[in-house]
Amino acid sequence: MGFKSIDELNIRGKRLFVRVDFNVPIDDRGNITDDSRIRAVLPTINYALSQNAIVILASHLGRPKGKPEARYRLEPVSRRLGELLKKEVKMAPDCIGPEVEKMVAELNPGEVILLENLRFHKGEEKNDEAFAQSLSRLAEVYINDAFAVSHRAHASVEAMTRFFKECAAGFLMKEELHYLNKVMEDPARPLVAVVGGAKVSGKLEVLKNLARRVEKVIIGGGMAFTFLKSMGLEVGKSLVEDELLETAQKILEAAKKENVTVYLPVDCVVADKFEPSAQIRIVPVQEIPKDWMGLDIGPATTTLFGEALQNAKTVIWNGPMGVFEMEAFSRGTFEIVRNIVNSGALSVVGGGDTDLAVNKSGEAHRISYISSAGGAFLELLEGKSLPGVEALKKR
Ligand code: AMP
Repeated sequence: MGFKSIDELNIRGKRLFVRVDFNVPIDDRGNITDDSRIRAVLPTINYALSQNAIVILASHLGRPKGKPEARYRLEPVSRRLGELLKKEVKMAPDCIGPEVEKMVAELNPGEVILLENLRFHKGEEKNDEAFAQSLSRLAEVYINDAFAVSHRAHASVEAMTRFFKECAAGFLMKEELHYLNKVMEDPARPLVAVVGGAKVSGKLEVLKNLARRVEKVIIGGGMAFTFLKSMGLEVGKSLVEDELLETAQKILEAAKKENVTVYLPVDCVVADKFEPSAQIRIVPVQEIPKDWMGLDIGPATTTLFGEALQNAKTVIWNGPMGVFEMEAFSRGTFEIVRNIVNSGALSVVGGGDTDLAVNKSGEAHRISYISSAGGAFLELLEGKSLPGVEALKKR
């Protein structure tokens, strides 16, 4: 893939800087409500420990504005990681500076330390060289296992790599890129893209790029209504971006030129208000009542999408088919999960809420790969290269 992975370096007994994504949800009482991002990097940490390396972990948490903020301290993460590793995880008071350097210098092979939130320093998000250099003083080898932040040119992701002779990807990063490259560069065909979610605007580049690479595009979710309206249908109070009607038309025309078949909803679940207690009806998309809004795909659409997926060999999916957070509008999204897994295709899912929807559906174990990334996943679907990955390739 153009870069090394951790198991290709000799890290035995060395000081390893490992950029991870520990940006986990923490409640008011300091409890981590979902530790999956911590669990996701355990293979890399355990491998490093098996090599008797000194493991220096670094992450951001939340959006502090370049200065310390108590609620974004990483201490709860070090505690949870310690429980998972069954081993002490030291917590540094900062991520740079003499005190941290001293703490790291005193560590023995096989020990783990977590640095304090990288974003407590302005230099992190500015990709500042001096900040990156201060971080780099802590270690001999650089590992990036934070795929989810690799679309950001931040100091711990990009600039830092310039200060190391040896840089490599961790196992999570490697796995993410393996699946995403497979889908984008060398997929078994037919390749079907399923795109949903709220708005067209957030997925424009994804749609444009995918429409050149796939055999079929299935469009659901709120964004489908902008497409339906662009075809002359009345969509009532459904989510529509009027300024994108022409763009939607152009996407449909471009897809046709490329022989890409586009599937849009033929019926939908409409509601009289955006609430779980709303009155609901199922109507053909040609019959959406004026004051109602479409909040999920309907059963005929589920059947249509299911048939379109039947011969798929590879499926890439981003964005729910409806407002799945409310039970009344969740069926379309859960059914599409079943359709995808029943197709037997290699299925790669990611970006924002989609993993949440898949986990709620109870079928997550049957999806080939669920990406841990939101923005980075979407940028790869847009055909962009990721600064954090490019930085590893240069090494
Ligand atoms: P995104 O982050 O763009 O993938 O959008 C995900 C959000 O889209 C979810 O929170 C869904 O509730 C929302 N969504 C899906 N379908 C609709 C719809 N028909 N109308 C309004 N919101 C929707």
